[in-house]
Amino acid sequence: FFYFKIILGKNGVPVAENFRLEQSTIADTIQAGQVRVRTLYLSVDPYMRCRMNEDTGSDYLLPWQLSEVADGGGIGIVEESKHENLAKGDFVTSFNWPWQTVAILDGSMLQKLVPQLVNGRLSYFLGAAGITGLTALLGVREKGHVAVGANQTMVVSGAAGACGSLAGQIGRLEGCSRVVGIAGTDEKCSILVQEMGFDAAINYKEGNVAEQLRELCPGGVDVYFDNVGGDISDTVISQMNQNSHIILCGQISQYNKDVPYPPPLPPDIEKIRKERNITRERFLVLNYMDKQEASVLQLCQWIQEGKLKVRETMVEGLANVGAAFQSMMNGGNIGKQIVSVSK
Ligand code: NAP
Repeated sequence: FFYFKIILGKNGVPVAENFRLEQSTIADTIQAGQVRVRTLYLSVDPYMRCRMNEDTGSDYLLPWQLSEVADGGGIGIVEESKHENLAKGDFVTSFNWPWQTVAILDGSMLQKLVPQLVNGRLSYFLGAAGITGLTALLGVREKGHVAVGANQTMVVSGAAGACGSLAGQIGRLEGCSRVVGIAGTDEKCSILVQEMGFDAAINYKEGNVAEQLRELCPGGVDVYFDNVGGDISDTVISQMNQNSHIILCGQISQYNKDVPYPPPLPPDIEKIRKERNITRERFLVLNYMDKQEASVLQLCQWIQEGKLKVRETMVEGLANVGAAFQSMMNGGNIGKQIVSVSK
């Protein structure tokens, strides 16, 4: 089992030592309605940083409790079932999968997965065909105002991450004529351009982002898929066009700080936003779950057709889940960060 050890202060940086691995036993028998599962994959995500605070800052996230088993998105296989809709061998998922190698769960909290939808790549259901893909697709569709033939330029920050790498590709599929990514290494930038069809990418850790952006987006920015906030976003917003749109997906550069969500823009940037009538509405994928089924099918279709290129960074072993979380928060991942717990 994994037990959560320390609750950080609001301005703390997460470290692997915040998590502790412990061994325990589970019951020998399961009750009616329950299943025994073996964990295959776990997801580590930026929102988990908020669950490390006693006050998560949002009403839809509960804090992880000290010395309780942490949980998040997970996938496993049913090994024994006393639930009428689940059978041994079924692949199942939940947003609240405990960080354990095996577990006894209520069958009613699990959704059955169809591996054929993702060419057998089950872990995609935690990324491109799961919440991450839904966030990218529904963010673009609900807040991006992207239209075929409108000759729009899209900029994506956190572009080589799980959401960002999909968002740029989806922006293109939905009609943007130019897509530019911003990411933290040269390797990430070259993958975005060579593999994922971005027109260009900027390494924000090198050179002048504002200058490069001006060169790469000569017609200004029409749609900004914002994963990071902070200075990068201020720079992009300064180059956005009249009546353009920010997809306020996340603000990872601010998650270790004690600021409200969404963090207010600095006064000079907020002035630009208002003068140019740039929309910056809060976006939360969980508010669009009525569109989940159709959207997942769309994502799976694009994956099968090879129109959506998917990258994962896989770490092996439950013991490494804390380190995987820390690494993802520090940019160690390309595409979706996944922990492979068993085969
Ligand atoms: P991710 O992008 O795969 O991983 C996080 C990435 O953030 C890192 O790889 C790192 O890449 C970048 N990063 C870390 N600190 C940074 C900083 N100070 N400045 C700039 N970049 C930084 O994670 P994800 O799961 O796809 O999540 C991306 C964003 O979407 C997060 O903000 C998350 O909260 C948000 N999200 C929102 C919703 C919603 O419903 N609105 C749902 C899911 C996720 P670099 O190497 O480029 O720095």
